[in-house]
Amino acid sequence: MTKVIVYIGLGSNLATPEVQIKEARQAINALSAIQETAFSSLYRSPPMGPQDQPDYVNAVMAVETSLPALELLHCLQKIELDHGRVRKDERWGARTLDLDILLYGQQVIQQPDLIVPHYGMAERAFVLYPLQEIAPSLQVPELGYIATLVRHCPLDGLVRLA
Ligand code: ATP
Ligand code: CA
Ligand code: CA
Ligand code: CA
Repeated sequence: MTKVIVYIGLGSNLATPEVQIKEARQAINALSAIQETAFSSLYRSPPMGPQDQPDYVNAVMAVETSLPALELLHCLQKIELDHGRVRKDERWGARTLDLDILLYGQQVIQQPDLIVPHYGMAERAFVLYPLQEIAPSLQVPELGYIATLVRHCPLDGLVRLA
């Protein structure tokens, strides 16, 4: 089966975010159809949307997988739920774990439940900077080179953690 390189964005701002990210990484790797190829540093970023919530810890992970995109999304959603993710009505509210599919190879996907490249990535420092760290020469479908995207995206308070 053909394998695809996929970039996954990880985020958490509840229940010891660093631990959530570490456990999510392990849970993703534990899937037999997925293998990690790179993992960025951890980054801290102020929340989007509602400001009355803790800062986020973010990272980006590259994996190689034979899973079709929608199956991968469902696997990631199960991991979110296993880590105590509670879906609320509030947009961008606090959460123990958020796993977004940023890129699925060079594919452009527009389905009701899955849009790839992730619709918000061009404006999000906490996605672009860690992505550039692990894939400095990446070309993002429809958006262009990662280096150009980063150059046009202010840090917005993003800090790389030691
Ligand atoms: P945002 O999508 O702006 O980052 P969020 O991550 O908080 O916000 P969620 O509540 O986690 O949003 O997800 C809402 C829906 O987004 C999910 O039910 C999922 O079907 C859909 N979705 C669309 N494209 C993607 C993608 N590339 N990765 C993950 N989920 C996606
Ligand atoms: Ca695995
Ligand atoms: Ca998200
Ligand atoms: Ca999400």
